[in-house]
This record gives sequence, structure tokens and C-alpha cells, in this order.
Amino acid sequence: MEAAPTVQRNTHQSVEKGRSRHKISRDVETDIAYLYEVLPQLSQIFRIIDKIGEGTFSSVYLAEAQMTDGSRRMFALKHLIPTSHPVRIAAELQCLTVAGGTENVMGVTYCFRKEHHVVIVMPYMEHQTFVDIVGSLSFEDVKHYIFHLLKALRHIHKFGIIHRDIKPTNFLFNQQRREYSLVDFGLAQGTHDTQIELLKELLGLDKAPRSVFGEKNLNGANSHKPGTDKVEGLLLKPKREEIIPRKIVSSKHRSVPVRTPLNQRQKTPAESQKPKPPVVSSMLTCNCYMTDRVCNICLSRKQQVAPRAGTPGFRAPEVLTKCPNQGTAIDMWSAGVILLSLLSGRYPFFKASDDLIALTQIMTIRGSKETIEAAKTFGKSIVCSRELPRLDLRILCETLRGLRSWDDSSLPAEFQASHNPAEVKQDAGSPARKHMSSGSLKSSAELQEMGWVKVPDYVYDLLDKLLDLNPATRITASMALQHPLFKDMTD
Ligand code: ADP
Ligand code: MG
Ligand code: ZN
Repeated sequence: MEAAPTVQRNTHQSVEKGRSRHKISRDVETDIAYLYEVLPQLSQIFRIIDKIGEGTFSSVYLAEAQMTDGSRRMFALKHLIPTSHPVRIAAELQCLTVAGGTENVMGVTYCFRKEHHVVIVMPYMEHQTFVDIVGSLSFEDVKHYIFHLLKALRHIHKFGIIHRDIKPTNFLFNQQRREYSLVDFGLAQGTHDTQIELLKELLGLDKAPRSVFGEKNLNGANSHKPGTDKVEGLLLKPKREEIIPRKIVSSKHRSVPVRTPLNQRQKTPAESQKPKPPVVSSMLTCNCYMTDRVCNICLSRKQQVAPRAGTPGFRAPEVLTKCPNQGTAIDMWSAGVILLSLLSGRYPFFKASDDLIALTQIMTIRGSKETIEAAKTFGKSIVCSRELPRLDLRILCETLRGLRSWDDSSLPAEFQASHNPAEVKQDAGSPARKHMSSGSLKSSAELQEMGWVKVPDYVYDLLDKLLDLNPATRITASMALQHPLFKDMTD
């Protein structure tokens, strides 16, 4: 029987003590005060210590509570943005309560609500930041990591939950304790036969799910203006079946979207070759098909609506091309992108500000012909200005990790130009350099020690099956766990 948190009012003094021990900024202090203010019941149970996460849709705090048995325990308090749709919130909570608490999926302890403020209380799991550890993991660590991610995915997929936002920040990892936990069902959707009732309800509700860019996290005292509840209108998108297209092809001379400058200097591995971004359309013929113009027929066409949640660099090709029938396979693709980072020691691997750029980066690795072929199977036609060869995944990962010399790698010249450290000039002090070095500066003795020298073919076979461009043939989580790579692991 677990001890329950006691209702014990925190004295002002204990809060002060916590602050001085924990050195937090003024802003965080203000945000904590604000959270106590909007949800006063929290102060009777928790001492909120720090803010540990700040996303588009929530702020997450570390808090301590005294349990009935006298022990103290840490919790994560997720304060959802007050503009989240009630069904959305309830669905997130239901995913945690029904599927969580086991199989590397985060559970939930309690939930507080006052008016439109909701806090989800979860057990706190101490974890590392992926970027800090990706270069220092041994092959064995990587194998465990991906195994445990697959277990979490198999579990939620059994319930008909599509997570839609699989990425390292949503899969907490404690390296020392080899603990793993999948979090954040804030974008989850249900399969047609989902066991999560509220996800079924969502299916009807948000045909166009919350936009990553259209909403703001209004949590926090500084940003919150009372009376701005109209923002809610933003979320409850007009119930139109279709929305006006964003231009995907522009004038004769400039084909497609302007590249948004990346604010990080280092190019991610997939950014190397820069053909014109591809043009995606549903299979239809008109005047402009296969040209770089948009005809009037196309300009008047309405955009297909499909779920598009998630982070561009982790989105599957069928998500990027707005295929309306998306299933659990989209999470498997994202797991593949994580494995690609783990094997190459590079994170983020695909860094794209836009779906078409993300699609180009995928083609850089998986081949343009192959991508176009796969897209045909789900009814999308992609036009690409130049052919990009499919890269050998082992050669790619080994070269990026520094196990193979760039000269013998046979990687395309353009790819080398932007990724071979010998050819890329970088500021010595830039974080990019530090990041880039994380994998490649290991000595061969260290690499040997870490198990990177004789990596079995199995892992690249699994990577290839996760990064299957065709969702219909992409490996499922339960199949992946049967993969020979894991034959010595107990499931
Ligand atoms: P968002 O929807 O804003 O991305 P998440 O649920 O992903 O919210 O939480 C944001 C961050 O907060 C996570 O990346 C993680 O670092 C931290 N976090 C969330 N839940 C927990 C938890 N139970 N234990 C420890 N940290 C957590
Ligand atoms: Mg998250
Ligand atoms: Zn046309």
C-alpha cells in the first residue's frame, strides 16, 4: 500500500528554505507564486521547488510532498495551458491513467483543477538531457534504450493510442538507474478501435489538431492577462473540413518555401544536400503537374486536412505529406529517428523548421526515388528537382561517429562538404562544435571499450525497418521486440 500525501499546510518558512537551497531565478519564483495562486489547493500538499519544463502546451514543476508515513516524495506537476480544450486535457489524463504506470509509460498520481487551470501530478523521474548523453552512450546502452522505448510503444499501441510526439524529450531516461518513461500524451490520438474512450471523442472533435505555432503557452504570471480567454477560440478551430492552402509552389523562378534561417550553426547530418524542396500533391493532373508553376486549378484547390502534430524532425513521411490515414506506424518512424541519433551520436539528426525541408532531409538519407515510390502507395505525388541517392545506414552512422574516415566513406561529396569536420569551418567556442565533437573525438580505444567497433548488422537492419518509408510495411513495436538484435534481452 502506498503512502498518500498528507494535507499539511506549508509554512512560509519551508518555502523559503527550499528556495535558498535550490537557487532559482526570479522568473521561476514568480511562476511558482502564480501557480499557488491559481490552484491554492496545491499549497496544502506540495512545496513547489523548481520549474523543470516549459513547452508550448504546459509548464512542468518539481514539487515535494510529505507522505502519511512521514517520508518525503518528489512529484512532477504539469500545469496545462488554460486554453487547452477540456476533452484534450481529459484525454491526456485518460491515457496516463489507463495505459500509464507500467511498461515504461509514466503514470499519474492525481489531478487538480480550479476553473480552467489543471495540474496533472505524476511521480517525478530524475532524468538526463538527451543531448548531453547521446555521444557518451555505449552500444549496450543504446540497445537497452531502444528496447525500452519499443516496449513503451508496444504497450500504448495495444490500447490504440498513437502518441504522435515521440522524441527524446518525451522519453525520460535515467542512465545510472537504466530507467525509462514515456511522457506527454498531449498530442495523442486514437486509432479507429482505440480503447481510450476520450480519444474516440477527440477523433470527431479536432480534425485539425492544435497547431504547434498557433497557440502560446500563457502559463506564468508575466504572460497571463486575465480576460484573454478569447484565446480559447484559437484552439477550437473553425469547424471547416478544409483550410486554405499554404502556398507550396511559388513563382517560376523560385520554387517553394523560403528557407528559414536555422538559428544553430551546425548543420544536422541530413541538411547537407540542398535540392529545391519537393512539391507534394495528391495525385491529380492539371496544367502545372511536373512544372514549377502553380496553375489556377491548383491555386483554387483546398488543402487536405490531416493530423500534423509533432516535431518536424521526427515526423514520418506520411505525416509530412499530410496523408489522412495515419496510424501507430508514425510513432515507429519517430523511434527510428531516435535510433539514428543514438547510432550516429548526432542530435538532433533532422532539424527542420518546415515539413518540406524535413521531407528533403529524409530523402537525403533514404533516397528520393524511394521516397517518391513510397508516397505513391499512400496516394501522394512528390516532385523533386534532383535525384538523391539512398545512403548506407551503417556507413553513414559510422562515419558520423568517427569510426570510419570520411575519405573512404563513399558518402556523396555534398554531404561531406557540410559534415566532414575537416571541411567544415567552425568557431572553436561554439556549442555546435562541442556538440559535433561529442561522438567523433573519442579515441579508438574508447570506441572499442564502448562497443562501437563491432556493432552487429542486426541493429542497422532494425533501423532500416523502422525508417521504412512505407507505413504499411514499417515494422510494428511488437515485431521489433522480436528482432534478433534483442535475442539476449528479457522482455
Ligand atoms: P509538454 O507537453 O509541454 O512537452 P511534457 O509532458 O513533455 O510537456 O513535459 C515537459 C518536460 O517536463 C519533459 O520533457 C520532462 O523534462 C519534464 N517532465 C515531464 N514529466 C515528468 C516527470 N514525471 N518526471 C520528471 N520530469 C518530467
Ligand atoms: Mg513534451
Ligand atoms: Zn496545377
